Amino acid sequence: MLIDVHAHIGRLGTERSEALDVNDLVNKMDIWGIDKSCVHCLSEHPEAHYLESDTEDIIAACSKYPDRLIPFCLIDPRFGLNSPDMDFSYRLEEYVARGCKGMGEMLPKMYFDDPRCLNLFRQVGEFGLPIIFDMNDSVNHYGLRDDYGLPRLEKALQECPDTVLVGHGPTFWAEISKEVPEDQRAGYPKGPVVAGGAVPRLMEKYDNMWADLSAGSGYNGITRDEKFGLEFLDQFQDKLMFGTDSCARYAKGAEAEIVGLMKRLREEKLLSEEACDKIASGNAIRLMDL
Ligand SMILES: [Zn+2]
Repeated sequence: MLIDVHAHIGRLGTERSEALDVNDLVNKMDIWGIDKSCVHCLSEHPEAHYLESDTEDIIAACSKYPDRLIPFCLIDPRFGLNSPDMDFSYRLEEYVARGCKGMGEMLPKMYFDDPRCLNLFRQVGEFGLPIIFDMNDSVNHYGLRDDYGLPRLEKALQECPDTVLVGHGPTFWAEISKEVPEDQRAGYPKGPVVAGGAVPRLMEKYDNMWADLSAGSGYNGITRDEKFGLEFLDQFQDKLMFGTDSCARYAKGAEAEIVGLMKRLREEKLLSEEACDKIASGNAIRLMDL
C-alpha cells in the first residue's frame, strides 16, 4: 500500500495556466502506483498564489473518488480578526465532520511562532488533525519563516504538544545539517550532511515533530548524503511519510524522484521491509486513522 500524504490539484494563479484537476491527479496516481492521496488546499493563503484549491474545492473534488482521495482543510492564521485570540473551532468542527483528516498546506509568510500561528496550531491539535507545513525563509516565496537552528519551530512544538507538525520545504530540509550555507538555506544544498542539525535534533526530542518526504526538498534532504539519509530514514521510520507534492500533469512513464526512491529502498534492500511499509503507508494510517 502506498499513500501520498501530499498531493495537489488547482491552478497556478500568477500566470495563465491550465488547472490540474482531480481526474489528472487520479490518473497520475495510477501511473505511479499510489493507492490513496491526501489532497491539500492552497488558496486560503494569498502567498500561495494558487487558485481553485480552497477547502471547499478540495472536499468537492475528493468526493468524486472517496476510495482514493482524502481531503485536507486549511485555515489562514490571519483569518477573521487577524488576532491571536481568534476562535476557529466552528470551522474545524465542520471540516472534521466532513471528512478532513489533516490541515495543509500551511505556508503563510509568517514567523513560525507568531502568536496567530500558535493560536491556530493549538486549536488544530485539539481536533486531532496533523498540520503539514512548508518552511521557506526567503522573504518573497511562500512558506513559514524561522531562524538558524529552527528555534521558532521548537517553540511551537513545545507550546502545542498535542499538535503533530509535519515538516516539509526547502528551509526545513536544509536544516537537516548543522552547517547550512546562507545562500542555500531556501534552496537545495548538496554535499555531506554535518551531524547535529536542527531537524534530527527536533525529530528525536519531540513526539509531535514528523516530516514528509515530498518534493525536491525532501528528496534532496534524504539523498544528498546517502549514508546519512539511510540512517535518518531508519532512525525516524515511525514518523516519516511518503509524499510527492506534485502539482503538474505527468506524461505516461515520467516519475517523481521520490517514487523511484521508494522502489529502490525496497528492491535494493537499503531499508528494512518493515521500515519501508511504515514510511509508505503505515505511519499515515496510524497518524490520521485512515
Ligand atoms: Zn505542496
